[in-house]
Amino acid sequence: MRKNIVAFRRLNEEQLAQLRQHHDVDFFEHHEDADSPAFHAALAKAHGLITAGLKVTPQLISNAPHLETIASISVGYDNYPLATLNERNILLCNTPDVLTETTADTGFLLIMATARRAVELADWVKDGQWKSSIGPDLFGSDVHGKTLGMVGFGRIGAAIARRGSLGFGMQIRYTMASPKPELEKELGALRLPLEDLLATSDFVCVSVPLNRDTEKLIDSAALELMKPNGILINISRGKVIDEQALIEALNTGKIGAAGLDVFEQEPLPAESPLPHMPNVVALPHIGSATRETRAAMAQRAVDNMLLALAGNDPISSVNPEVLTRRVKWSPEFGPGAKL
Ligand code: NAP
Repeated sequence: MRKNIVAFRRLNEEQLAQLRQHHDVDFFEHHEDADSPAFHAALAKAHGLITAGLKVTPQLISNAPHLETIASISVGYDNYPLATLNERNILLCNTPDVLTETTADTGFLLIMATARRAVELADWVKDGQWKSSIGPDLFGSDVHGKTLGMVGFGRIGAAIARRGSLGFGMQIRYTMASPKPELEKELGALRLPLEDLLATSDFVCVSVPLNRDTEKLIDSAALELMKPNGILINISRGKVIDEQALIEALNTGKIGAAGLDVFEQEPLPAESPLPHMPNVVALPHIGSATRETRAAMAQRAVDNMLLALAGNDPISSVNPEVLTRRVKWSPEFGPGAKL
């Protein structure tokens, strides 16, 4: 049976054609479209919603009475009201695995760029300041052989740690994760309480999901525990770090530098001091933003949607338990059926 799908951003023509072969699709290409009457009218009849970067509120869900499945083009799902979706038995699909290595590349890019002051020094060259070889005031710090503390040691955290351990001979610490004996064996990783990890790591890399337990996990007290030359990397979500406390810690030399892909508010407000601080490398949330990986994520969302709307298990979902609560139609449910 053909159903109605609202697709919000980031699908290519081929992926739209795959959806249109089976269903009717309303495609909204631009971020501003989310405020348009056409978007809300399409949502009112939608059975499926494919989205990237849309804040989905309980209000938006209540305006979509037929919604069965959401396929997010992301692994993180802090943009969705999970309790509301569970109440309505709406399946939420996401895109783990296909973005792990690319996001880990970005995490390691931030480690390298902050330690070696790559952005600051490239700007210095651009400004025509390279008149003689640089002195100690512009020296960076080594990455190889240093200690890398992973706050969160799931798919992306482990992939960053692998780069550090196997490529750069770094010692790996981890916290905020259940014990990982296989990774401990593979990488010689040591599991520590958060406080100890903060106090002993040269690089602290945050890769936990954003939820009630992790919001502002790295606050002023946590920053206080870090080494004075310690470098903080955030590849997860901005709200996991208390941004104001971070700005203070960077300004007062409590920590050495920060490499940030994500921020409390995105896009970063013009008045934020962070991108102007020499000891900060600020990226515009590009963890998974390569042509190959974004295409793979969109394809995963399309595959998830087609499977779910056809009544099959999707490849990856956040709340698969809603499927068991749904009453599936069967001819036996017809008139006179013995139930
Ligand atoms: P994952 O495999 O689920 O790993 C998450 C890790 O965090 C696990 O080690 C998990 O512990 C730990 N964790 C989960 N909930 C926690 C809690 N409440 N308190 C403490 N620790 C907790 O996820 P992933 O694929 O690595 O992705 C991690 C996050 O990265 C995503 O949620 C997303 O927000 C972010 N991300 C950002 C970008 C970007 O563009 N910057 C791209 C992709 C993802 P256990 O091992 O014990 O479960």
